[in-house]
Amino acid sequence: MRMANDVSLLTLQIQQQIVCDRCSREFLAGQTDSRSLQDYTRLGVGFTDRGLQVWCRRHGLNVVHIDFDGQELTADFRCLV
Ligand SMILES: [Zn+2]
Repeated sequence: MRMANDVSLLTLQIQQQIVCDRCSREFLAGQTDSRSLQDYTRLGVGFTDRGLQVWCRRHGLNVVHIDFDGQELTADFRCLV
């Protein structure tokens, strides 16, 4: 188990990207000039009353809305500079 102050947690740990389905379909169909799906999609991420929402700003659509079910989860907002 990692300690809360483990700075290795502040490095890139993403194992599975969250993507907008519509952005993904457009990118895979070659309908964009972007080199990567990450370059094409424009995601907004933020906390809501329910939990955390990822929003596609390009399409104005919900990507995912994670329900924290009233739980207060541990979050680390430090960054390595
Ligand atoms: Zn999109």
